[in-house]
Amino acid sequence: MNRRMLRKCSWCGKKTTTREVFIDGHPPERLSVCSDSCEQSLREFVSHYRATRWYLLSGMLLITLAAAVFALMGAVNLLPLCLTSFGLLIMLLPFATGETIELMGVHKSVVLVRVIGLLTSFSSAILFMSLA
Ligand SMILES: [Zn+2]
Repeated sequence: MNRRMLRKCSWCGKKTTTREVFIDGHPPERLSVCSDSCEQSLREFVSHYRATRWYLLSGMLLITLAAAVFALMGAVNLLPLCLTSFGLLIMLLPFATGETIELMGVHKSVVLVRVIGLLTSFSSAILFMSLA
């Protein structure tokens, strides 16, 4: 099942002679990697993603619900806390879109999402403190 071809490594995003790996599961994934270490990192990421992706969705729903409750209560000064929570959530579960992953590889997309989460948390925490 390991065919050699010039493609992007799904983990690091480098263009190289890659080999395809098949990651079993639901859904099964057929991805390309450039090295054993990229394959290992990719398998760990996919396993982590499959085990925790519903936590991300649940967390986003809870944060949205909390924001709606705060808005209905007129507690607008608490809304930045929702953004802070969202930033922390995506730092913990840094799952980018498939397009982003395809563009830059899983590793760089994780770093990008964590930086966005950090900036979101930091700026919304400052906003919260300025409203308090
Ligand atoms: Zn690689």
